[in-house]
Amino acid sequence: DAKGKGRRQIREFDPGLKALADRQSLIEQDIEAAIRNGEVETWFQPQIDLQTGDIAGFEALVRWHHSRLGFVSPPEIVAAAQSLHLAESLTAHVASSVCRLLARLPDLDLSEVTVALNVSPREFALYSVADMLEQISAQHGINPARLEIEITEEAILDADGAGEQLKRLENAGYKLAVDDFGVGHSSLAYLISLKVDRLKIDRSFAKGVAESRANQDLIAALVGLGHALRLDIVVEGVETAEDAAVLEMLGCRMAQGYHFARPMPVESLIAWIARRAEKKDARRAVA
Ligand code: C2E
Ligand code: MG
Ligand code: MG
Ligand code: MG
Repeated sequence: DAKGKGRRQIREFDPGLKALADRQSLIEQDIEAAIRNGEVETWFQPQIDLQTGDIAGFEALVRWHHSRLGFVSPPEIVAAAQSLHLAESLTAHVASSVCRLLARLPDLDLSEVTVALNVSPREFALYSVADMLEQISAQHGINPARLEIEITEEAILDADGAGEQLKRLENAGYKLAVDDFGVGHSSLAYLISLKVDRLKIDRSFAKGVAESRANQDLIAALVGLGHALRLDIVVEGVETAEDAAVLEMLGCRMAQGYHFARPMPVESLIAWIARRAEKKDARRAVA
């Protein structure tokens, strides 16, 4: 009928959809080489202790600038890698960058901080994340306590068998953080039994927190939960000084966001760390 035909034509001739399909096939065509040759990069975003202003850690975030497509987003990269059985190569690639950064931190007076990497829930079913991380950190001589694994509430629910691997990693001394906390559904019992170290409060709650009583109440409740369960709280997506001040007042210990620093390539990060240390020395000299 006419209606069905119309729909079919839209599917066949919609230039937007065609462009999307072309984009996806280019991504899939190039991703393996891009991981191998380092075109897929690992950038790092600092985390700040709100009380002291000290650097509290870093999060690794994957970046790919494709010669023809421009910026390819992390979710696109992760989806393409998973559909091509490259999930392990991608995360191993990021984990190696994390270990290389960790190896440089003692020289920067940051031997105590952690570096986090993201592992998507499905990955635990695709390969042994635990084997891979243990192998790579051993290769680089990295203390597992410096490496933090960010998982979402979905992984905590263990539909993909993440639980056993996470328990093993936790026993081996790795740190665990729950990412985007507050927007999914995870069980508090699981948080406790997995000995999660940190909750990263989803950035939707930080956005405009200085002006939102509802978000302030919610953050205060999560800070209370953190105290009760002995978990550190990190707030993501802090974009303004006002929001940072309110979060500190609410008892948040750590924050991450554009107000402090954007994700950066490793050499820019090292320069950023050095500048920050200089400023701190200058402040001390004045005081
Ligand atoms: P995420 O783990 O929650 O990472 C935080 C995201 O918030 C990053 O986006 C970061 O650039 C962004 N962000 C940081 N500060 C601010 C801020 O002040 N305002 C706003 N609006 N955004 C901020 P990005 O890098 O685009 O990554 C998106 C998501 O992709 C990540 O969310 C994570 O779930 C996933 N991802 C990134 N890298 C990897 C990776 O290596 N492996 C896996 N499996 N997933 C990754
Ligand atoms: Mg994350
Ligand atoms: Mg997040
Ligand atoms: Mg622990």
